[in-house]
This record gives sequence, C-alpha cells and structure tokens, in this order.
Amino acid sequence: MNRHISFGLLMLVAGVSLATSAAAQTAPPADPIVKENATIKVAAHTYVIPDGNVGLVPNVGIIVGSRATLVIDPGLGKRNGEAVLREVAKVSKNTELYVASTHYHAEHTTGIAAFPTAKYVNATVQDDEQVKSGAALIKTFSGRSAVTADLLKDATVRKAEISFDRSYTLDLGGVRVRFLVVGPTHTGGDTGFFVEEDGVLFSGDVVMNNSFLAATAVTSMRAWLAAFDAFAALKPKTIVPAHGAVGDGSLIGVNRTVMEEVQELARDLKSQGRSADDTAKAVQAALVAKHPQWPRANGLAAAARAAYLEAP
Ligand SMILES: [Zn+2]
Repeated sequence: MNRHISFGLLMLVAGVSLATSAAAQTAPPADPIVKENATIKVAAHTYVIPDGNVGLVPNVGIIVGSRATLVIDPGLGKRNGEAVLREVAKVSKNTELYVASTHYHAEHTTGIAAFPTAKYVNATVQDDEQVKSGAALIKTFSGRSAVTADLLKDATVRKAEISFDRSYTLDLGGVRVRFLVVGPTHTGGDTGFFVEEDGVLFSGDVVMNNSFLAATAVTSMRAWLAAFDAFAALKPKTIVPAHGAVGDGSLIGVNRTVMEEVQELARDLKSQGRSADDTAKAVQAALVAKHPQWPRANGLAAAARAAYLEAP
C-alpha cells in the first residue's frame, strides 16, 4: 500500500509525463485485479474485459447467447471471478453459465471458484495438466505477493463438468462457439475458441499481438505451426489473445513469420553442428534485434530448442 501512496505523490510532484517514465523503472507491478466497468463489445454476441496490460490478468471473454452465456478465462482467484460475474450481469440475463479456459495456468482458471453452478467445459489434456501441476502452480503464484496470496487463499483445482478430447461445439442459442485444442504450444492443452457467428477467435497464448510467443519446455514447433494453420482456416475477423491488445486476423501471419524464422535459424545452426544452448542464444538475439520492443523474448530460446529437437 505504501508504495502506491508514494507513487501517487510522485505523480503530483513531478507531473504526469515525468512520472510515467520514472514509474516504468521504479513502480512495482500492478496488482492482478480484473478491471470493472471496462467491458467492451467486440461483436454482436462477444464481449471482452481487457487485461489493461496487467500481469496475471487475462483478457476475459464473455459470449452471450439467447439460452446461455460462456465465460473464457475467469481471472486469478475467487475475488477476480466475482468481478467477472458482475461484468457478466451487465451484458447478460442468462442464468445458465459455462466457463472455459485457454490453458491451465492459474490466472486463466482459478476465478472459477466464483462460478459454483456454472458448467466448466474443458479439454481432457488441460484437466490432466491441472491435476498434475495445478496445485503447485497455485502455490507458486501465491508466493508472488501478499495480494496474490490473498486472491488464491482458497483456490483449488476444479475438474470439468463437460470434457472433450480435441474439439467441441457449444451452442449458446443463436451463437455457437467452437473449442479447438492446438497444443502442445505454450502448454499441452492450449485451446482456442471461435465464435462462429461473430468471427471472433480467442487465441490464448498461441497467437499474440506485438509480442513474442511464450514457448516452454513442452512446446512442439510443429504443433505451433499447425495451430496457425488451424486458426487461419477459421478466417477470424477479430483475434483476442489471452493477454495484450485485441487485433485482427493478420496477427496469425505476423506470429507465423517469427516462428518460421525461429525454426529456419534453429535448423541452420543445428546443421552447422552448433549445440542446442548456442542455438537458443543465437536465435533469441537475432529475433530480439528485429523486434526490440516486444515482450516475452525468453520464449524465443524455448522455441528455438523445440525447433532444434524436431529438426531432421
Ligand atoms: Zn500462461
């Protein structure tokens, strides 16, 4: 709390423009709270609560049909889930609710504690990841700050009420949402959601806007490139990544170009006899030089390793 008060004073004393640059260097990360009264309508049935560029806050999706409403990525812990519910009530009168998650990480799942009567629709691979790693992840995220500890104090892993293998279609009444598992990409069970009547794709961490992609130890580069194909085939007009700004269908091509470059560089370096470690470093440096402002540069090294392993 004290840090926020001193930041407020700094704004007063130094003026907003000076304080903004100072804040970028010195302010602690913002608390991971879903912003209320910020919901935007992106298409006829589709709403988004923007993440406001705050870490551990997802872009929350709300898709409203005549029969039921679907929430995608309900935020970190019960308190954020309750904020999401209040936003849902502003755009939907439906009593029948469904919840889904783009992947098993805690800010995309644990807000479901605020939805005891909703049906959680989840891929079996995400369900398995939560059973295996969900509790440990909740503990890790709790350790980040007093606020995250409080948000997650009662958090538990919830099993799906409706599970599916690789794809599923949910009819909300006048609007259908296609669920598509595309992992192993950022995680094993990354799932995209396509709102058919609206042409809106919720792409999780698989397609992002002005960002490198957060590859991890489970990533398959082949799967990631196939995910771009699967998403592109849907011809989305609007793409809502799990974090960062909403964009249009061109985001897929931008992300694909970078990942193809990573793959090509990794293959070249491997064929020259370079080690995986060397390759990861060289690929990361080469791509960061092209997009010096983009976040998630660490993902490049993991992407390069995946491409290296899969190279002939
Ligand atoms: Zn994640």
